[in-house]
Amino acid sequence: MTEGASTGNQATWWDVATPWLVATVFPLSVWLAYFGEAPRWINVFATFGFTWIVCGFIVAACHWVLRRGEMRAITATLVVLNFFTYGHAHWALMSFGVRHMWLVLAYAVVTGLITAWLCRAQTESIFRLVRLSRVVAGLMICLATASLAKEIRSAGTQTIIPPVVVATSQTPGPRPDIYFILVDGYARSDMLKRYAGYDNTPFEDSLAQRGFKIRSEAKSNYSQTRFSVSSTLNMQYLELPAGSVPTSADSVLWTRIRDSKAAEVLRSHGYRYRYVGSAFPPLESSSLADESSRGSIIPAYIGTFLSTTICQPPMLAYQVPSQIYLSNLQGQLQRLAEVRQDDQPCFTFAHVMLPHPPFVYCAEGLVPEKDYLYPPNELYDSKVMKAYVSQIDYLNARLLEMVDSVCAGKAKPIVIIQADHGGGILGKPDEPSTEQVAERLAIFSAIHAPESITRELSSSITPVNHFRILFRELLGAPLENLPDRSFFYSDHLIEMVDE
Ligand SMILES: [Zn+2]
Repeated sequence: MTEGASTGNQATWWDVATPWLVATVFPLSVWLAYFGEAPRWINVFATFGFTWIVCGFIVAACHWVLRRGEMRAITATLVVLNFFTYGHAHWALMSFGVRHMWLVLAYAVVTGLITAWLCRAQTESIFRLVRLSRVVAGLMICLATASLAKEIRSAGTQTIIPPVVVATSQTPGPRPDIYFILVDGYARSDMLKRYAGYDNTPFEDSLAQRGFKIRSEAKSNYSQTRFSVSSTLNMQYLELPAGSVPTSADSVLWTRIRDSKAAEVLRSHGYRYRYVGSAFPPLESSSLADESSRGSIIPAYIGTFLSTTICQPPMLAYQVPSQIYLSNLQGQLQRLAEVRQDDQPCFTFAHVMLPHPPFVYCAEGLVPEKDYLYPPNELYDSKVMKAYVSQIDYLNARLLEMVDSVCAGKAKPIVIIQADHGGGILGKPDEPSTEQVAERLAIFSAIHAPESITRELSSSITPVNHFRILFRELLGAPLENLPDRSFFYSDHLIEMVDE
């Protein structure tokens, strides 16, 4: 960039700050957009740190190359804008078939035109442009900060999960390892038989031979992951607001799945908390856990942020979502099958994104990438149904390997293999039929535990009571069972009552 004649107009401190203000808009806006997924603070701070480091490099480079203050400010701002808007622009235009090559070209042309104008522009015009960028960025920061402050305050005051006191007896009882394996969207066997013609009896028989109780009438308390699992692990029904659930409540629910009351109670009783996270961003890792593993190298939230920047093309090349998803699943299944050597009792929570779509596995293993199926929200057709049950075949084999491995140790563990909701194989419409609701709430549930626990788990007992029963038996906690209720959510919560 060549510089025009100086008019003696000096750049102020505010002009120097302009690229920094513009850069700050981007991590703030991503934080606001993903607040409902409850990103961990450390990852949020990392995105701000990354932004300011990049901005620092850009500002330093401009300072080194350019002499005049207004040119430094406007050029740094322009480069910052290019860097941090690229991914957003590509996402917005992707559905119109715009490829990276064309977008890069468009960016180069626009940047070239602006540069040509800058070379001829009056100093005062450049200062005006810097001031305008600063005002727009300042307004956006104020708006985003106000919205975030509102969400954070609202999340802090949510009483969505009523507290539960787990007073325990002083006499220490046996402390078996506990596994809670959440198999996302695993339909109950009678539903698989009725709607997919699939016979899951061989798997259930294999589990029964290994001492599992198969709960063939199991029902979930809620039809959605965040409601269902937060309720199970915190041993309470949710006090959700009428109507649609706000973002701040979602963020509380995801946090309370990762850092649950069940985990907190077990940790206070000497348990190690092992969190085996999934590639699903809100359930990736836990800050409460003593051991928290995730599948991808870069945390999902940071990955999402980077893919809104010019880093998107290499991110997509090296952090292919399907690869993250698969390596995460493989890693999870391996970790679950590991036999623990130490004597400290352990509570393992794993969110396994199977048989939940996309359908990438069949009994023989991985299906070719071109055959991956991402089903629609409507009723599964025969092809999708076949893919769903093939994925169940794969999962069943891995679960048996895991069970054989963990049950072979010296002490018998408690293993709960359970879905959060049914398969949704009849579709997930806003106004579901009775049949669709029944299918969505019918869950796979198999439990390996001492007889004193399994006899309490009658067919009508729902997951909200599972840890109540466990803690009553293991820790002597005087916890009562709650009435068994089930709710379906589309845009508001409806209680389902059996006729
Ligand atoms: Zn789910």
